[in-house]
Amino acid sequence: MQIISVSGGKGGTGKTFVAVNLALYLATKKKNVLLMDCDVENPNTNILLGKTDLSEFESAEISHFVPKFDENKCTKCGKCAQVCRPHAIFQIINQIPLLMQNLCTSCELCYRVCPDDAIIPSYEPLGKIYLKTIRVQDTSLDLMVGELSVGQVQAVKILERMYKKLEKLNATHKYDYIITDSAPGAHCDVEFVIKQSKYVLCVTEPTPFGIHDLKRILELSNIVQRNTFVIMNRATITDYPLNNLEKDHNTHIIASIPYDLQIMESYAQGIPFLFYKLAEEKSSSKIAIESIGQFVVQKEKSTYD
Ligand code: SF4
Ligand code: SF4
Repeated sequence: MQIISVSGGKGGTGKTFVAVNLALYLATKKKNVLLMDCDVENPNTNILLGKTDLSEFESAEISHFVPKFDENKCTKCGKCAQVCRPHAIFQIINQIPLLMQNLCTSCELCYRVCPDDAIIPSYEPLGKIYLKTIRVQDTSLDLMVGELSVGQVQAVKILERMYKKLEKLNATHKYDYIITDSAPGAHCDVEFVIKQSKYVLCVTEPTPFGIHDLKRILELSNIVQRNTFVIMNRATITDYPLNNLEKDHNTHIIASIPYDLQIMESYAQGIPFLFYKLAEEKSSSKIAIESIGQFVVQKEKSTYD
């Protein structure tokens, strides 16, 4: 099993487009593929696969522990605040503690140390995980989608549950490849996803914004010691200078996908680009997508040679 993360510092660079078409390419080669949508604040891989309605998927609710303080029982001893590592409990001396929920990791330690049973365990909905086998023409792959509920902030908790689910699923499905579509940016959700992967495919575009944010994801990957490979999307829109990008960041540009209106047409029609009937038999954009798949297969082979 190889877990490959598709990432991209900036939103809108085409990371989901690459992740979906790469997963499909591998599936067309008779590989057993799971695509994981780890952009849990804005998942949309299902839409690119032509499945707009997540209610058709098998789903599981994810809830999380939230401590509530019982004012009648609390003796204001402060022990809960002392043990809370992310400092999610704030207490003024001789006052009932206050919870800063955004910082709480739901570890339940405060509940366990409270000597007076003054913490009421409550569980609030956090999001959902969806799962479905998707068929596109005569190709199929499994799709797992994580979704954080609106108003919630602890995306990492959804990701942790997704990877636990992956462990169980893989025990029976024995996937050849897991392709993960991470969130944009270079924050802790993205770091979590990158850390689980063997290497990172960074999708960007040749613009000042694209290259600026690409450098952030390259730095993050370097910090967590994952190799990176760059995919230049919409490569023909500018000739923005890349200077010594590859050398300075110890990376390689493995594919350049030209700007292609037919990609937009495939979006509009809800057909994955790999399966979209093109005006020409072999467009350069489709060849570029296939070359990414070939790179991944070749890389797996070289791992075992
Ligand atoms: S559950 Fe853990 S992180 Fe949350 S408030 Fe309690 S001790 Fe702190
Ligand atoms: S540990 Fe329990 S009793 Fe002590 S301050 Fe916290 S909630 Fe109150």
